[in-house]
Amino acid sequence: MSTGTINVAVENIFPLIKKFLYSDHEIFLRELISNATDATLKLKHLTNIGEAKVEYGNPVIEVKLDKEKKQLHIIDQGIGMTKEEVEKYINEIAFSGAEEFIEKYKDKQGEEAGIIGHFGLGFYSAFMVADKVEIITKSYKDEPAAHWTCDGSPNYTLEEADKTERGTEIILHIADDETEFLEKSKISELLSKYNKFMPIPIKFGTKTETLPKPEDAKEEDPAPTQEVDNFINNPNPAWTKQPTDLKEEDYKSFYRELYPMQFEEPLFNIHLNVDYPFNLTGILYFPKMTNDMNIQKDKIQLYQNQVFVTDNVEGIVPEFLTMLRGVIDSPDIPLNVSRSYLQADGAVKKISSYITRKVADKLKSLFNDNREDFEKKWDDIKIVIEYGMLTEDKFFEKAQKFMLFPTVDGNYFTFDELKEKVSANQTDKDDKLVLLYASNKEEQHSYIETAKEKGYEVLLLDSPIISHLIQKLESEKENVTFARVDGDHIDNLIKKDENTVSKLTDEEQETLKTFFTETIPSDTFTVQLEAMDSNANPFTITEPEFMRRMKEMQQTGGGGMFGMGNMPEM
Ligand code: ADP
Ligand code: MG
Repeated sequence: MSTGTINVAVENIFPLIKKFLYSDHEIFLRELISNATDATLKLKHLTNIGEAKVEYGNPVIEVKLDKEKKQLHIIDQGIGMTKEEVEKYINEIAFSGAEEFIEKYKDKQGEEAGIIGHFGLGFYSAFMVADKVEIITKSYKDEPAAHWTCDGSPNYTLEEADKTERGTEIILHIADDETEFLEKSKISELLSKYNKFMPIPIKFGTKTETLPKPEDAKEEDPAPTQEVDNFINNPNPAWTKQPTDLKEEDYKSFYRELYPMQFEEPLFNIHLNVDYPFNLTGILYFPKMTNDMNIQKDKIQLYQNQVFVTDNVEGIVPEFLTMLRGVIDSPDIPLNVSRSYLQADGAVKKISSYITRKVADKLKSLFNDNREDFEKKWDDIKIVIEYGMLTEDKFFEKAQKFMLFPTVDGNYFTFDELKEKVSANQTDKDDKLVLLYASNKEEQHSYIETAKEKGYEVLLLDSPIISHLIQKLESEKENVTFARVDGDHIDNLIKKDENTVSKLTDEEQETLKTFFTETIPSDTFTVQLEAMDSNANPFTITEPEFMRRMKEMQQTGGGGMFGMGNMPEM
């Protein structure tokens, strides 16, 4: 047996680590299972290339709880370590990472603590929950097994052990203030959060399986059951496969696997798959969306080599795409850094614009391939598209091809089609194209009818952010102005018909005029008695366009979407 002192500059590193990692201490399990997975995949590689002359077999990783002894075991059948390797990889390398971490974060608090969970402390994170850690490991090489023990001080022991099967067993002696990690339910929860799609099968306890009834069983006989190993992960999730190997149904069933509590089917999916200049795979889903932009619970999940990292992808995908669901997996996203750094990182910027482009391309091909279906989905996806157009210039450009303008009658036009359709009839005195729209079919019903009688197309634009998008469209497109049907702009458009006669007598007109000017302040509304010749409307009241826009901007301007980030300056 040998003993030693782990070479760390800080006298007792453990309390420090514990304090800093406190908010995220549960990640220890993810880290230890990642190590077990790495060890197994390394063995696979070595047997593949013929360097390890052992049977690879069907290795599994086992997580075992021993509540009585207050122990948690993580057991793998991977490459294992010799005594020398334990010295090197655990005492030197693993701990030097920890030391570096301490150096970096010693004096920092608060915000910084949140990012430490992504620091990848690896093996060392075991000491967040355990006051003693043992490693019993046997290398695939023909050497005796080793047994390492460390009790949370920089001192350790290392001796030979009699383990005969290849692989590594990590034993955590769970600390008294961390006993939640001795609960089966807690470990299950963590496994399903972090390890659900890891590439090596992970076993945790057993489960009861119902078997088919034997032929001669009576009606009232219960179906027989048996205890089987409980595997918690799907080692081959859909996003790791080639798009050509997947059918529509595979995407849908993967969606259900990701979001078991979501009963609504996704509208469509986008398979991301790139390996140069960065590595990224994933599947994004467009969920059915309504007009109210509620904060959604099921978010995009970020993985690194099939290990769950976070469901906060802010800074990695553009904000408008955070409304989507699905999975992104990339080893190229730096995780040990703050969000603000992430947003400035070149690789992350490339990833973000790649995703934006893929989403735009997919929307375009859906539009091209099946326009009818695209129109049907429009109401459910428009909020994402409109928000994207507002916030990402690249997306705005691309979206010109598929952004739809629905009319109150249920027709859908692209901008170019709309322009073509109305340019003869809907220009004002300055030759500007005037696009009439309603924001509420019921409330603006009579205005809509009047405009339609005039032969105008009336659009139905009712998203909560539409006024912002209208401003953007007006500034990007030449000679176009949007006018709400009940706004005063419509007066500029309507070519006054000489023959129009008001249905009211002169006397009636005078009385009404006086009444309205006395009751309605003339700077907020305009009353017109003769301009409109609709049967329904002997007079109309319109609101100056600029007044209404000002009010709208005040209402929707400040908080931005879901209260995260801000709307662009208008
Ligand atoms: P990292 O995984 O980033 O290398 P860790 O601190 O998690 O850092 O692990 C340090 C090293 O210890 C690993 O690189 C590996 O060589 C060794 N190791 C840890 N766990 C195992 C294991 N279960 N089987 C074999 N080697 C392991
Ligand atoms: Mg590791």
